[in-house]
Amino acid sequence: MSNPARPQARAAAAAPELPLAGGDDQPGARVEAGRLRPAWAEVDLAAVRHNASLLAGVAAPGALCAVVKAWGYGHGSVPVARAALEGGAQWLAVALVEEGRQLRDGGIDAPVLLLSEPAPAAMQEVVASRLTPTIYTDAGLAAVSAAARAAGEVVDVQVKVDTGMHRVGAAPERAVAAALEVERRPELRLQGFWTHLAVADEVDDPYTGAQLDVFAAAVDDLARHGLRPPLLHAANSAGAMWHPRARYDMVRCGIALYGLSPAGQEAAREPVPQLRPALALVARVSHVKEVAAGERLSYGLRYRLDASSVVATVPLGYADGVTRSLSSAGGQVLVGGTRRPIAGTVTMDQILVDCGPGSDVSVGDEVVLIGTQGGETIGAWEWAERTGTIAYEVVCGVSGRVPRAYRNP
Ligand SMILES: *Cc1c(COP(=O)(O)O)cnc(C)c1O
Repeated sequence: MSNPARPQARAAAAAPELPLAGGDDQPGARVEAGRLRPAWAEVDLAAVRHNASLLAGVAAPGALCAVVKAWGYGHGSVPVARAALEGGAQWLAVALVEEGRQLRDGGIDAPVLLLSEPAPAAMQEVVASRLTPTIYTDAGLAAVSAAARAAGEVVDVQVKVDTGMHRVGAAPERAVAAALEVERRPELRLQGFWTHLAVADEVDDPYTGAQLDVFAAAVDDLARHGLRPPLLHAANSAGAMWHPRARYDMVRCGIALYGLSPAGQEAAREPVPQLRPALALVARVSHVKEVAAGERLSYGLRYRLDASSVVATVPLGYADGVTRSLSSAGGQVLVGGTRRPIAGTVTMDQILVDCGPGSDVSVGDEVVLIGTQGGETIGAWEWAERTGTIAYEVVCGVSGRVPRAYRNP
C-alpha cells in the first residue's frame, strides 16, 4: 500500500541536537534509545526557571519548595531541581529516600524534604545523605534519634500533622506531642511543622478552610508550649495559588513548577500565574502509506477509513506512556501544525495517525503529542480530560524509555 508518488527520501532523523538526559540519575539506556528511535520528550528548563520565579513571588516573603518527586513529574529530577533553584526555589521535596539520594548524587546541595516518614531501616541513609525527614510516628522518631546519635550529628526534622486528608501524618494532639518530644532531644532539631490539603484544587470547597483551622489550632497549641518552628507550611500548588491563607513560611509546588494547572479547565480559577508548560512529547513519522477507502486500521480493526487516506506511523506507544484509551477517546496529535486523529488502537510501540486524503506528510516529519506546533497546542490536560485522569498522571506516565532532551539548560 505504499504510495509511489511519495518519495521517502528524507531519512528519519534522530532527536534534535539538544543535550539529552544522561546524568547520574538515569540509565544510559535512555540515551541510547533516543539515538536510534526518533521520539523524545523535550523539557524546556527556561520554562521551569520562569515558573519557579513566578511561584517564588507568590510564596514571598515565604520560601518556595520545588517538589521534584517521581523523577521531577517525569521531567528529570536533577535538571529540573537545578532550574528551580536558579529560578528562586530554596527547598526541594521528594517522596522517596532514593529520590533524595539521586539529587545528592547529581551534585545538588539544597535542603531536601522527604514528604512522608522514611522507614526506620532507611533512617541512617537519610542522615548520611543530609535529607530532612518528616516524622509522625514513635517508631520514626526513635529511628531518626538513633541514626542521629550514631552519626554524632544534630539532625533537623519536620513533623507532619494530619488535618483531614488521612493519608500520612499524626493527629493534631499527637503531632504537637511529637514536636515537643523532638525539641527535648539534643540530637534533633524541630525545623518544620506542616500539613497537606486534600481539596485545594476544588477552590470553593470549604474543607480547605476547615483543614487550615485545624492546622492553625495545632500551631497555637505549640505556641502555648513556647514553640514556634522555623517553617510552617501547608500549601501545594493549588493552595499556594488559590488559598493565600495556606502560604505560611513555605509553599510546596509540584505541578505548577512544570507549568501545568493543578485543576482542569472547568475548575481552574484566577489568579493562575502565567505558567509555561515545560514538557513536550514529540516523535518523527517513521512510515507513511496511502490506505484505501473501507480499510480498517490497527489491532481490533476499530478505525475505518471512509475515504482513501494517508496514514502515518509514529514510533510512540503505550509502553512510552501514550495511554491506550486515548485512541477511543478522540485523541489527536499535531502534524504540520494541524490536529489529526490517532487512528485505531494505540499499540505498545507505535500509533497510527490519519493524516487525511492527499496529505503530503513524509517520513521524518515532526509529530507533536503534547506541546505546540504551528499555532496549535495540545496540552497534558486535554489528554488527561479525554482519558479520565489528571495532567499529573500524563506527565509522570511518560516512561523511562523516552529520552528527555533539555532545551535552555
Ligand atoms: C506531591 C505533593 C505536593 C505537590 O503537589 P502539587 O499539587 O503538584 O503542587 C506537595 N505536598 C505534598 C505532601 C505532596 O505529596
